[in-house]
Amino acid sequence: MTGSYRHVSSLAELSVIAASCTECALSEERKNVVFGSGSPDADVLIVGEGPGQQEDEQGLPFVGRSGQLLGKLLLEIDLSRDEVYIANVVKCRPPRNRDPRPDEIDACKPYLRRQIELVDPAVVVTLGNFSSKLLLRTTTGISRLRGLAYEWWGRYLVPTFHPAAALRGGDRVTDDIRADFRLVRMIIDGRISFETPQADVDDVVPTTTQDECTQMGLFGGPPQ
Ligand code: SF4
Repeated sequence: MTGSYRHVSSLAELSVIAASCTECALSEERKNVVFGSGSPDADVLIVGEGPGQQEDEQGLPFVGRSGQLLGKLLLEIDLSRDEVYIANVVKCRPPRNRDPRPDEIDACKPYLRRQIELVDPAVVVTLGNFSSKLLLRTTTGISRLRGLAYEWWGRYLVPTFHPAAALRGGDRVTDDIRADFRLVRMIIDGRISFETPQADVDDVVPTTTQDECTQMGLFGGPPQ
């Protein structure tokens, strides 16, 4: 596995390295490495799963129907896509949109780790099971994880459903994402503090008890 990329001082430099990456088998069938897009100084960094067909062709994350829904839901909390940073767990498209394999996620996570370090957002939003389980180091599914903000290495992490699940699941799933995004808005507006990270959440979404997840390591340990 590649190193930590600690020596890389900008997203632009890291994207150049990723563009020729052959660290896992996903490099064999990709058309483009989908590194990430958005503001390098974003308050909100969004982590999806991996590129689909349209993303692979255009080299940009979330450009299909899921991306349109994501953009719409962000606008509802007064955030444009240009104001956030969007990345994926794996930067290359898994063939036929299969799930990324553990060895592929493992090979690619140094890129995501460094992206988070360089952007240094106040809130990380994980979309769906892959990114939520990876960053929270849990086997708990997204249905139980969502609805809360987790204190996470000096910032917040808000897990929610992937927009693709909303496209399949309809209004109920979409409304759950809306509720989680309102939580994101409250955090960046300073209406939730680390001392009482769940204090203002009850009126936004129903909460579940996830005390095991209140302080998690980034991919298995603190940032080096
Ligand atoms: S998925 Fe990540 S680790 Fe694998 S080839 Fe692409 S950039 Fe490299």
